[in-house]
Amino acid sequence: MPSTQVQWNNCTVEVWQGDITTLAVDAIVNAANPWLAGGGGVDGAIHRRGGPVILQECQAIIRQRGNKPLEAGEAVITTGGQLPARYVIHTVGPVYREWTPQQAAERLAACYRNSLALLRQQGLRSIAFPGISTGAYGYPPEEACPIAVRTVREQLLTHNACDRLIFCTFSERDYQLYSLELTRQN
Ligand code: ADP
Repeated sequence: MPSTQVQWNNCTVEVWQGDITTLAVDAIVNAANPWLAGGGGVDGAIHRRGGPVILQECQAIIRQRGNKPLEAGEAVITTGGQLPARYVIHTVGPVYREWTPQQAAERLAACYRNSLALLRQQGLRSIAFPGISTGAYGYPPEEACPIAVRTVREQLLTHNACDRLIFCTFSERDYQLYSLELTRQN
């Protein structure tokens, strides 16, 4: 598969198509739900492949927060269990229909910003993002993609955030969408 690649502030940013749970990067990002309870889509795949340790750590995080769910846009980190990735950053995307388009865009951008902030705080240098909110949470991919790419670009140019960043797409259509957007914003 030919991959689209750009360099932003010494970080190689690429679009890749496939299953995020196979990627041996420092951290993969999970499109989690507010209770970090696991579920379908990419969340289900990560917990299945990573094993029960991830869910145990998620439950501990929720307990430490006084049994409060995460807000849309927040991010937390656990280890990667049996995944090839060392860590999982769990972020909660906005449910598209619950917000105005402006609010949804702000929350979605916060997911990418806060995930990259956690990566930096932990001293990690490579990360893979799925299309947060674009599955069950109903965010149209053609609206979410430019926000994801713009936010990542801004963060990478502001901070020397990492060495390698992957936009992991699942469908051929999303692969094309992200490839085009990466070229457009380069
Ligand atoms: P959300 O609830 O935030 O919408 P979903 O998991 O339903 O999250 O979907 C988010 C995106 O992740 C969708 O584009 C979906 O196609 C994609 N996806 C689902 N499974 C995987 C996987 N194993 N690896 C990478 N992306 C995946």
